[in-house]
Amino acid sequence: MNNIEDERLMELRSEMFENSRIFHSDDLDFKYIQNIVKVIRNVLQINQIHFFIYKDILREIAQYVVKYKHPNLTFIDRNKQIQEQYLDNLINSNGFNKRIALTTSKDEIFGYVFLNIEVDSFSGSNYFWNQFAKIIYCYFKQVFQILIIYNEKRRYRLLQSVTNQLHSSIDMDAVLRKVLESLKEIYPNFNFTLQLSTDDFKNSELPIEALDYTLESSPAMECFLTGKYRIQDDLTTKESYMYFPLKGKQGIYGVLHIQANQSIMISEQDIEFIHVLAQTAGSAMENAHLYQQSKHLVKDLKLITNVSKKLNSILKLVDLAKYIVKELKESFNAHESGIIMFKDDHDEILEGSTSYFYKDDCDSLIEIIKESLKTTREGLFLGDVNQSKFCHLNIPFASIMVEPIKQDDDIIGAVVVLHKQPYYFSFETYKLLRSITQHSSLAFSNAILREELEQLVITDYLTKLYTRNYLDAQMIKSMETDTQGVFLLIDIDNFKKVNDTYGHQNGDKVLVQIADVIKESIETDGIGARWGGEELAIYLPNRTLAEGKQLAQQLVQLIPIKSEPRVTVSCGVSYWNIMNPLTPFTLFKKADEALYEAKNSGKNRAIANI
Ligand code: GH3
Ligand code: MG
Ligand code: MG
Repeated sequence: MNNIEDERLMELRSEMFENSRIFHSDDLDFKYIQNIVKVIRNVLQINQIHFFIYKDILREIAQYVVKYKHPNLTFIDRNKQIQEQYLDNLINSNGFNKRIALTTSKDEIFGYVFLNIEVDSFSGSNYFWNQFAKIIYCYFKQVFQILIIYNEKRRYRLLQSVTNQLHSSIDMDAVLRKVLESLKEIYPNFNFTLQLSTDDFKNSELPIEALDYTLESSPAMECFLTGKYRIQDDLTTKESYMYFPLKGKQGIYGVLHIQANQSIMISEQDIEFIHVLAQTAGSAMENAHLYQQSKHLVKDLKLITNVSKKLNSILKLVDLAKYIVKELKESFNAHESGIIMFKDDHDEILEGSTSYFYKDDCDSLIEIIKESLKTTREGLFLGDVNQSKFCHLNIPFASIMVEPIKQDDDIIGAVVVLHKQPYYFSFETYKLLRSITQHSSLAFSNAILREELEQLVITDYLTKLYTRNYLDAQMIKSMETDTQGVFLLIDIDNFKKVNDTYGHQNGDKVLVQIADVIKESIETDGIGARWGGEELAIYLPNRTLAEGKQLAQQLVQLIPIKSEPRVTVSCGVSYWNIMNPLTPFTLFKKADEALYEAKNSGKNRAIANI
C-alpha cells in the first residue's frame, strides 16, 4: 500500500460517482460506460479498456443488455466451457495485458475488465487492483440500480397510457396498436406478431396472423391452451421466441408472439410487463368482441321487430313471401332464399322466391327438405351439404338453412336459405331465421286463410264457377280498362222437366257438368259465373263479338253431348266496345233479350243481340 495508490483510488472514486447522478435522463445510451472509461483513462493513463459483464448478474436490466452494444462493453454468458479460452484469446489478440476479475460484495465474479497497461505507466499493486475492482462493482451497482428504476418508471408510464387507451376506446385496433407501439418502444429489436383465434381483425393493418390450430404441440398453441407464457431458444438460429397469452376475463383470444434475433436474457420484470400488456390486448379484444356481439344482438332484435311489425300490415300471401325473402336474403347475405308451400297435390314456390327455386334441379332439394321436415319435424341447419347425409344431392350450395312454417301443429311450408360457401351461416344466424319464421308463421296462416276465404266468397259452392258479384266486379274493371268484351247468358232448356223427371239431385249434377264444360271452353282470361238458379254467364274481356258467338255456338253443341241426363241450352250474346260503351247492367239486359229470343224461336240455340 502506498499513498499514490490511495490517492488514485480516491480520485477514481470521486470522478466516477460525480457524474453518475445524471444518468437517469431519457437518453441513457451508454453514458455510464463512457463515463467510467473516461475516468480510468484520465486517472490511470490507460487507453485500452474493455468490460466483460456476465449477463445473469444483470437480470433485472436485461433489456439494456439486449438493446445496446458498446465498443468498451460486452455482455457475456457465464457457464460456457469455452469462456475462459475465449477470454484468453481476447487478451492476446487485442493487445490487452491485464485482466481483473470484478467481484460483488459477496465475492462473486460478475465480470472482468481488460486493460492494456503500458510499461512506463502506472502498474499498481494487488491491493490497488482489488480496491479498483470493488469501486467498479459499486459503480456498476449504482448505475444499474438507477437503470432499473428508470426502466420501471418507463414501463409504468407506458402501461398507464395503454390502460388509459383501453378505457377510453372501444376501438380494438387502436388499443392493439398502442400495445404494440409500447412494446416496440421498450424492446426495439424484437419482432411482435399477434396470433389470433378469431378472424374479426382480418382487415387490420397490424401484424396479425391467424393462430395455427393444426400445430397442437407448438409453443404458441401450448400458450393458447394453458394461458401460460412460453420462452424458447432456437440454438441453431440463435433466435429466441416468446409467447404470451392474450387473455381477457372470459377467455383467451390469441397469443402475442415475440421473436428476438439473438439469444436473450429476459428479466422477471420484463416478463411481468409483457404479460400485463398482453392481458391488456386480451381485454381489448374481449371488449371489442362483446361490443360486436351486443351490436349483433341489437341488429337481430331490430330485424325481428321490423319483420313482426311489417307482417301485421301485409295481408296478401304473395306480398308476405316477397317481403320475407327479401329480408332474409339481405340480412343473411344469402345467395338464394325461397318459400315453399306444401300442398296435397303439388308444392307451390311462392312468388318472390329467388330464381333457383324455379329450376328443375331444385326439385330434389325440395324433396329432401320435405322428407326431413316430415321425419324430424325440425328445421335443417347444414354447414356443408357435401359432408352430410345429403351429399348425393349435387346442388351448387354448401350452406343450407331450413325452417318449417307451421299452422297449428301442421307443417304447411318451409323457408329455405342457401349459400354457396360451406359454413357460411353461423348458428346465431340460424336461430335468427327460426325466430323470424316463427314470427311469420301466424301471418302466413292468416294470409292463407284469408285467401281461402276470399276464394270462398267469389266461388259458387255447387258449380265452383265464380259468383255473380265477382263477375259484376270484373266486368266493371274490364269496362274501365279494356276496349271491348262479350257477354254470354246461358239458360238450360226445360230444366224444370229434368228436375221433375230425374230428381233435383240429378238436376244439380247436370248443372255441375255444364259448369265443367264452360270452364274447359273458356280460356284463362274468360270468367265463368253462376248467374243464378239454372242460368250461367260468361264474360270474355277484350274479345270480339265473333269470338263470343263462336263460343256460344260451341257450348250449344257440346253441352248436349256432355250432359247426363242430356240437356240442351239456349244462349244470348251481347257485346260492347269503346265506340259503343255499355254498363254491366245494359250488357246483361241485351244478352237477356237475345236469350228470350232464342227460347222463343225454339231453344237449343245461340242468338246475339247487337
Ligand atoms: P226454359 O226452357 O223456358 O228455361 O224452361 P225451364 O223449365 O228451364 O224454366 P223455368 O224457369 O220454368 O224453370 C227453371 C227451373 O230450374 C226451376 C228450378 O227447379 C230449376 N232450378 C233452378 N235452380 C236450380 C238448382 O240449383 N238445382 C236444380 N236441380 N234445379 C234448379
Ligand atoms: Mg231460367
Ligand atoms: Mg230454363
